[in-house]
Amino acid sequence: MYLFKNVRALRLFLEPFRTKGRAIGFAPTMGALHEGHLSLIRQSLESTQCTVCSIFVNPTQFNQAEDLEKYPRNPAKDLQMLYEVGCHAVFMPPVDEVYPPGLDSTAPVDFGPLAEGLEGRFRPGHFQGVAQVMNRLLGIVEPQRLFMGQKDYQQCLIVQHMIRTLGLPVEFVMGPTVREPNGLAMSSRNARLSPEQHSRAAIIFQSLQDAAHWMGQGLGPAQVREKALQQLSIPGFRPEYFELVDGQSLQPLAHFDNEGMIVACAAVWAGDVRLIDNHILRRGA
Ligand code: AMP
Repeated sequence: MYLFKNVRALRLFLEPFRTKGRAIGFAPTMGALHEGHLSLIRQSLESTQCTVCSIFVNPTQFNQAEDLEKYPRNPAKDLQMLYEVGCHAVFMPPVDEVYPPGLDSTAPVDFGPLAEGLEGRFRPGHFQGVAQVMNRLLGIVEPQRLFMGQKDYQQCLIVQHMIRTLGLPVEFVMGPTVREPNGLAMSSRNARLSPEQHSRAAIIFQSLQDAAHWMGQGLGPAQVREKALQQLSIPGFRPEYFELVDGQSLQPLAHFDNEGMIVACAAVWAGDVRLIDNHILRRGA
């Protein structure tokens, strides 16, 4: 496994793969790796000839300085995990390598309503930051396939939209959410939960699964939402949103009677740790 800290060295390493027509797979991360990240690396290893993982805590996507400061970092363990899984190259750049002075890396894309609800509503500017870093990283790595997790469903749609709008020559692959044994979606932020919070946070996936059940019983979106918010309001936890949205447009649903894809999305504060999760209730026609 090779570790790169600057763009030029990474591009020199990747050049022979490009000229020989060997597919490059890319999984961008912010480190503090877990099985969810590794599952993306494994998917890339299975379907490409060279797998690149980036570890970069992107400052432009954090809307609160404290969140950025408290973001877990564990580079030595990350490298060990990536080595063991068989990743070929790791890109771990300093901030000024990704954002050199003078370079305008903002993604010239209007996300419209896709970025307005859910995370976009509670984290202003977040998706502009995500698009900026993804645009820059895709420009550096130029992968044939990009692997990202369903755990961040809205992020997947934003990046897919950017790829389409800018006509980037990369195939987007969305990997399934990897969960803890109690159902909690794996997340780097889980490291900040106390053992008790960790065990109680199982309620988040439970509520998403129950939403599917309530929908099956004939309840409408407003009733399902109400029940889920109630279920999530346990001591020490505070739901920020629970929404039932169209899986393509991310617009909240007024009823369930169309044929489209339905996704339930939730954000919940466990103490001062913000957790998000989602569940596809119906894949659609
Ligand atoms: P992050 O390091 O949180 O920015 O995540 C890097 C990538 O890993 C993103 O594409 C995430 O959606 C994905 N990811 C994070 N958690 C999980 C999970 N539990 N299962 C699958 N993919 C995940």
